[in-house]
Amino acid sequence: MSRLLDHLADLAGHRDRDTLDEAVMRLIDELICPQYVAIHRTVGSLEAPRWLTHVYKRHRGEPYRSYEATRDAGPTVPLESLPYHLTCLQSGEIVRVTQAPAHWLYPLQTDNEIVAVLEVWQLNAPSPEEARILSAVRRYYRHLRGLLDENERDALTGLLNRKSFDETFVRAALQLGNDVPAPQFKADERRRPLRNTRYWLGVVDIDNFKRINDEFGHLMGDEVLLLLGQIMRHSFRHEEHLYRFGGEEFLVLLSGDRPADARQALERLRTTVASHDFPRVGSLTVSIGYTELQPGDTPSAAFERADQAVYKAKRDGRNCCVDFDKLALDHPLAESANTGMVEFF
Ligand code: GH3
Ligand code: MG
Ligand code: MG
Repeated sequence: MSRLLDHLADLAGHRDRDTLDEAVMRLIDELICPQYVAIHRTVGSLEAPRWLTHVYKRHRGEPYRSYEATRDAGPTVPLESLPYHLTCLQSGEIVRVTQAPAHWLYPLQTDNEIVAVLEVWQLNAPSPEEARILSAVRRYYRHLRGLLDENERDALTGLLNRKSFDETFVRAALQLGNDVPAPQFKADERRRPLRNTRYWLGVVDIDNFKRINDEFGHLMGDEVLLLLGQIMRHSFRHEEHLYRFGGEEFLVLLSGDRPADARQALERLRTTVASHDFPRVGSLTVSIGYTELQPGDTPSAAFERADQAVYKAKRDGRNCCVDFDKLALDHPLAESANTGMVEFF
């Protein structure tokens, strides 16, 4: 009982979706001790979304238990390759895949949408008590997600707000320089070699947005912001690292192995936006600046570097992606006395 209370207190204290998923999984594990429990989310582009097993835990018999939280990494598979999961996601209904062992899928939802699928394997069908527990945990999840969203999200686009940015940024910056294990999908896979995670911050600014407000009205401008938010959510693996910084400026925090990965992801966003047909407005472009996070970086310093690259992108004619770090290499540096920033213009 006291462990349960600990878990509940723990759950209520979670301040982002990553750790909330993990805590929900642990709670279910504690309460009904299934053979396997996982939370799957959809990630990837609008055209070809894929499943990501966000967290999972597999029991291999007492006393040994394996635990694996894939968090931001791990392989993804096409939605159609897990048809039962897809049915659960689309219908919002509990799906019973097999009777014995009991393999059941439960939708996890917010007030607006189904955000994930909870997968539970048990030896037998859940008892009435276990079914009640699962239902209560799902309601709790919905409630906590609602609170998180209210606090951390931008009301118009649903992306994270400025307040959440600093926190995520600090977490990413703290990881820099620390060796972390490469992502593993199966608990029983051999450990892969260690690697360093690198992070990039991208600033995305709509080109000539004022003209859209002027020509089509502020409401239409808002609609464009909302649509851009949607395109971004579907362009990147993790909506957790997308922010609206106010106005028509958006931020992306990317992780990867090479600068080319960051460039490719941001270029893909740029071209997706440029080829999108926005209702009434027609076509629209964005300028993007980005920079790699450095150990000891602060959110404002990284933002300023990426923003300088945006400025350069605007000067270069807009609808392009500029890498601040490449600029810094290509140009003789002029350090600004006040900020330590490199000035290019
Ligand atoms: P540039 O290509 O140089 O970025 O030109 P721009 O017109 O996009 O840039 P500027 O920063 O001068 O204008 C941004 C405009 O965004 C000004 C402001 O009216 C508008 N804006 C800011 N926040 C909102 C919002 O929440 N909704 C709407 N509809 N417009 C907004
Ligand atoms: Mg702007
Ligand atoms: Mg703009």
